Amino acid sequence: MTQIILPLSYLIGSVTFIIGLKMLSHPDSARRGNMVAAVGMTIAILATIFLYTDEDGNKLGNYGWIFGGLIIGSVVGTLAAKKVQMTAMPEMVSLFNGMGGACAMLISIIEFKHHTTGMTELYEEAGGSIFSTIPGTLFITIIVGMVIGSVSFAGSIIAWGKLNGKIKDFSFNGQHIVNLLLLGVITALTVYIIAARPDNTIMLFYTVLGMALLYGIMFVFPIGGADMPVVISLLNSFTGVAAAFGGFLYNNPVMLTGGILVGSAGTILTILMCKAMNRSLKNVLIGSFGGGNKVAGGGGSKEQGTYKEISLNDTATLMAYASKVLIVPGYGLAVAQAQHACHELEKLLEEKGVEVNYGIHPVAGRMPGHMNVLLAEADVPYDKLKEMEDANDQMSSTNVVLILGANDVVNPAAKDDPSSPIYGMPIIEVEKAEHVIVNKRSMKPGYAGIENELFFRPKTSMLFGDAKKVLQDLVAELKQM
Ligand code: NDP
Repeated sequence: MTQIILPLSYLIGSVTFIIGLKMLSHPDSARRGNMVAAVGMTIAILATIFLYTDEDGNKLGNYGWIFGGLIIGSVVGTLAAKKVQMTAMPEMVSLFNGMGGACAMLISIIEFKHHTTGMTELYEEAGGSIFSTIPGTLFITIIVGMVIGSVSFAGSIIAWGKLNGKIKDFSFNGQHIVNLLLLGVITALTVYIIAARPDNTIMLFYTVLGMALLYGIMFVFPIGGADMPVVISLLNSFTGVAAAFGGFLYNNPVMLTGGILVGSAGTILTILMCKAMNRSLKNVLIGSFGGGNKVAGGGGSKEQGTYKEISLNDTATLMAYASKVLIVPGYGLAVAQAQHACHELEKLLEEKGVEVNYGIHPVAGRMPGHMNVLLAEADVPYDKLKEMEDANDQMSSTNVVLILGANDVVNPAAKDDPSSPIYGMPIIEVEKAEHVIVNKRSMKPGYAGIENELFFRPKTSMLFGDAKKVLQDLVAELKQM
């Protein structure tokens, strides 16, 4: 019976991962998709704990350790996920991803110890290379899984620290060359250990482990802050691949499926994000965009001229008499938690016969899909969220663009200024509309730390203030009209 139930539970687990992943692609079904995959995972874990037996018929045992770990992990994970601010989500994803990498690394270390304990003495007795008795595929799986897991673990922790400001940027001239050399040595040593199985295999294994951890740190350090989401997504795919190696190691199909899904989803997301910024992965990894060039608390290097302000009353009037309004949300909307007030404004304008849509830039905010999640939370109809290309297509027929706490994603320098660090990133081309109103609290730059010439252009008017307060005041003004 067990021989049927265990593989069946793995099949259920694998199928629910695939269905869950598919459901994650739409905000309406995303929460349920997450639940479906979580239920599948729970079934697979419980089946392994209670039904798995080795060749000798022994059960897993160690229930105290297993359930102790499960309970601590579940409590910490649940509390962290409940407490986290939407704006700190990328940090949490990075930290959790790092834990996945650490798991893969530890699995490899434990299995390496398991298969090599006593080997040195055996070698001495036998006088031959006893490491060669370990099956080749098992050896490859252990070592490659260890390298990828270690890079993912160390890199994710640095990404987490950089995003929450606990770890400062660190780079030196020629760092990329040093990184490439380090990667070359790790690869060469890994191939050597696998191919030659020398006497000092144990020492070399731990040397590669140390170098892989160092590489993870060195690889993420020089990457610019604004490119962190791409790096996190890439590290996520590494963790998936490392977990898939774990699946091979334990001959566990559900671990293999889960690892492959995470690995491929992470890779696809990485490619899509690079495309959204019109940059190559190589440029992201060595471009240092949005890192050390941040301008603390003030404007950019060159003075851009004067800007004009607009009052709440004039803004309300302009929008009430428009036929088409496009709202461009950004990180500031999330900081102000202004999504509900924003939806109220949109409904009020629609009641007055104004067509209102949202222009969503793929990297607006601080994580992929940040704006979609935020607006879905406020029940904004999904068909109102226009992807960047659609929003740009509609721009010339739009009367008013209201930018709410967005900056880099509407910065024309990305199109016009080859010397700009964000040059090449596609933007929401708000200037093609009739009027552009920018809401933010001051003239401070956004994430990339650079001036935005848009604020000084003739069509643009600044509406200063916290996004939530401004939107509530606009709603009040509109109600009186
Ligand atoms: P930006 O960070 O460029 O700008 C946000 C603006 O919001 C700031 O200029 C700030 O100006 C304003 N702001 C902050 N708080 C408030 C508030 N309470 N009310 C009103 N305005 C406020 O955001 P964008 O969304 O335009 O761009 C995202 C940037 O983040 C890009 O550079 C992207 O590459 C990067 N990034 C994206 C990630 C992703 O996956 N989406 C992840 C990590 C980074 P002021 O202080 O004057 O109010």
